[in-house]
Amino acid sequence: MAEETKTVLPLAKGVVPTGKLHEMRKRALEDPEGFWSEIASELYWKKGWDKVVEGEPPYFKWFVGGKTNLAYNALDRHVKTWRKNKAAIIWEGEPGETRVLTYYQLWKEVNKFANVLRDLGVKKGDRVTIYMPMVPEAAIAMLATVRIGAIHSVVFSGFSAKGLAERINDAQAKVVITADGMYRRGKKLNLKEIVDKALQETPSVESVVVYNRLGLDINMEEGRDYWWNDLMEGAETYAEPEWVESEHPSFILYTSGTTGKPKGIIHDTAGYMVGVYATMKWVFDIKDEDIHWCTADVGWITGHSYVVYGPLLHGATTLMYEGAPDYPKPDRWWSIIEKYGVSIFCTAPTAIRMFMRYGEKWVERHDLSSLRILGSVGEPINPEAWWWYFKHIGKEKCPIVDTWWQTETGHIMISPAPGIELVPLKPGSATFPLPGVDADVVDDNGNPVPPNTRGYLVIKKPWPGMLHGVWGDPERYKRTYWSKFPGWYFTGDYAMKDEDGYFWILGRADDVIKVAGHRLGTMEIESAFVAHPAVAEAAVVGKPHPVKGESIVAFIVLKEGQQPSDELREELRKWIRETIGPVATPDEIHFVTKLPKTRSGKIMRRVLRAVISGKELGDLSTLEDEASVEEVKRAVAQLR
Ligand code: ATP
Ligand code: MG
Repeated sequence: MAEETKTVLPLAKGVVPTGKLHEMRKRALEDPEGFWSEIASELYWKKGWDKVVEGEPPYFKWFVGGKTNLAYNALDRHVKTWRKNKAAIIWEGEPGETRVLTYYQLWKEVNKFANVLRDLGVKKGDRVTIYMPMVPEAAIAMLATVRIGAIHSVVFSGFSAKGLAERINDAQAKVVITADGMYRRGKKLNLKEIVDKALQETPSVESVVVYNRLGLDINMEEGRDYWWNDLMEGAETYAEPEWVESEHPSFILYTSGTTGKPKGIIHDTAGYMVGVYATMKWVFDIKDEDIHWCTADVGWITGHSYVVYGPLLHGATTLMYEGAPDYPKPDRWWSIIEKYGVSIFCTAPTAIRMFMRYGEKWVERHDLSSLRILGSVGEPINPEAWWWYFKHIGKEKCPIVDTWWQTETGHIMISPAPGIELVPLKPGSATFPLPGVDADVVDDNGNPVPPNTRGYLVIKKPWPGMLHGVWGDPERYKRTYWSKFPGWYFTGDYAMKDEDGYFWILGRADDVIKVAGHRLGTMEIESAFVAHPAVAEAAVVGKPHPVKGESIVAFIVLKEGQQPSDELREELRKWIRETIGPVATPDEIHFVTKLPKTRSGKIMRRVLRAVISGKELGDLSTLEDEASVEEVKRAVAQLR
């Protein structure tokens, strides 16, 4: 591991670690009943639970015997207090308009829409697919669905008709909620057309509710399609919440598809609620005065947990932005932080690398002094990107919470926790598991590996926000998560603990490259590339090699103003040899202008692997941009 990635950052000046975090971690594992009961008691329960956790792998139940409601806890609880008139959602549209919904206003909209859904025949346990742009109505639809005990399945609005149809069919949704269209980089995109196409193959759908975002002249099918506003006009203003059992599913969410066909992950109500509530406080240190902005789309787990449910469960203010990060100019995000005084900001490494590529000048135009905590989620953050984020966005005063978790885990699992106690940070490390998370790094036989040794990341005990199955596919659930290490949850990720016990996520276990007996994580090599001044982004994969087993192939995106050349290729090869070692020297380096990524912005190494070995590309429904694959194909063909 390169020296720089090991740097300890004694970030909080004058802060002396008290040991509180580790004390809490110890207590949570020794006494989960007591620990989680205290936290859960801060929320509202129609009926209290008898037992905190029960069951055996692969099925556990949390807060058994309890009854509650997620929307009630996110809204009604606050409407009864001074927070009634506090901003719940601050929204900015791509063209620049602002909307603010107070808790009272949001509560009213959710109640009305809950009645709309009931009037459409939606009952407890029915599935509702939400396919919407980032508008407050997306959150309203989610909250209304759980208010009546129905199950939402939010599908990211960038999916094609086919991707949408597959997800609707998998969930057997009764109702689809969508918009006429959405803005994307100043253009008006017709969403309803995509829905109409998808609906040709989705017999389960009885009705479609269309929110009028753009005023497009769209096709409305009599007896099936209804305008959001028309239905809301006639709706009753109060909807009694459905008091559901703790284990009642609140939503299904499909994974990003980085490693294969997406899985429909099922989350419960109570465990998810308590886990998100606790981690929102621990990781983001959420306070009443904060403006929390997590840039994730509601179509991903991060959008569910830390745009909608987490902030609202705390009565906090959450910001939603509708458009592209760099539209109309690369300083759009920084202007939003300045305009609203955002204090907690969370985004993905892919975005940080993009802004690094544009350069600091776009950041320097804005006053970002309101920020106090920065978050990173979705992929390992390369130390180079970490430092840039720390210096240029956080001005060396905001801790970066590098949050490791998954769609499956429901909430953050491994991360710094400034809401409990800030520990010294190490760029590229997610630090320690949060209280109640029994994570470890083990070898193929399940034995813990020594410090600084790679192994599989596993979770040995149940945690509140854990998944409760793969929708319609119990076999896949057992096979994927619970069979490699019987009794433990297998994350599919590769990790290591250092001599101080810090966790380092090293990438996907499937992405590991085996060169001449050495197992190399993709993260380390990619980070070494990104540390080169000419490189903006890198993806490395293994290619079958007759002697070495596998050889390393790298795909490189250069920074603005850099030109690909054979000299640069040679220089990069040398750079890797020197920073990591001869074993990591890439056999092939391809320059491209973009990498194949999921629609959630993660590098799809499986697609690169397939291209270089001439294999089937597999499920491409989550691929963001097909042109990226074409470019990779051309680059590979050209060099050979
Ligand atoms: P699929 O499961 O369909 O292949 P996916 O794993 O990308 O897709 P998500 O649930 O959105 O779907 O992503 C979870 C994964 O993202 C983790 O398993 C991990 O590989 C990666 N990840 C998330 N946060 C971090 C982080 N802070 N550091 C390193 N990796 C992270
Ligand atoms: Mg995954």
